[in-house]
Amino acid sequence: MRFTFVTLFAGIVKGYFSDSILARAIESDKLSIDFANPRDFTTDKHQKVDAPMAGGGAGMLMTPQPLFDTLEHVRQGSTDPHIIFLTPVGKKFTQHDAKRLARMEHVVLVCGRYEGMDERVIEHYADELFSIGDYILTGGELAAMVICDAVGRNIEGVLGNNDSLEGESYEGLLLEPPAFTKPVTYNESNVISEYLKGNHGKITALKRELALCKTKYFRPDLYRKIDIKGIK
Ligand code: SAM
Repeated sequence: MRFTFVTLFAGIVKGYFSDSILARAIESDKLSIDFANPRDFTTDKHQKVDAPMAGGGAGMLMTPQPLFDTLEHVRQGSTDPHIIFLTPVGKKFTQHDAKRLARMEHVVLVCGRYEGMDERVIEHYADELFSIGDYILTGGELAAMVICDAVGRNIEGVLGNNDSLEGESYEGLLLEPPAFTKPVTYNESNVISEYLKGNHGKITALKRELALCKTKYFRPDLYRKIDIKGIK
């Protein structure tokens, strides 16, 4: 699967993909990332890509021409690009979106800077708009990396063991139950004893019970949906 980051600051993004699981996914050709910089496409003699807002307002906006030309260039080099704009006004990105996007061939992540982009770019090119939460970041790069990471781990074969996805929080409506590893006692605190007794039926039932408790406590909004669907 291919990701193109449309960004003025590729350096911010590159480091994240140089290590760990996603670096291995790139090495083994399960994932590829490339970059397109609107500044390389600007026709402004000073290489500017921003301008004051029409009608007034604080700050600058990314102008349409460099973004239009960048996105035309990206489209020409792809058979089926799915163009996503990162913006606080977008739909909130979820695990469900991560799984859906992991089935696509080429996702383009358009990162805003300054006070965002001229709306005409979004109107012309956007297949989807995503926000990663109700707060304002300095730029879209972090949000694009979040999406690329969450999608990347859902690409077939990227995680060593496909079971790693199973039972994770947000795979269903339940949060993950408490998890432990060695040693059995650490800092006078013990692993839940039932986990150590080898009765897998009982362990599964207990984990489900604990997952329900955790969901009820930390995410009552999800817990209410479980009630509605009668899963409990
Ligand atoms: N003026 C914009 C507004 O009030 O909606 C905020 C612009 S923000 C400073 C600059 C860029 O960061 C945005 O164009 C977008 O690409 C990105 N960004 C900021 N917060 C984001 C969020 N919560 N989710 C996704 N992208 C975000």
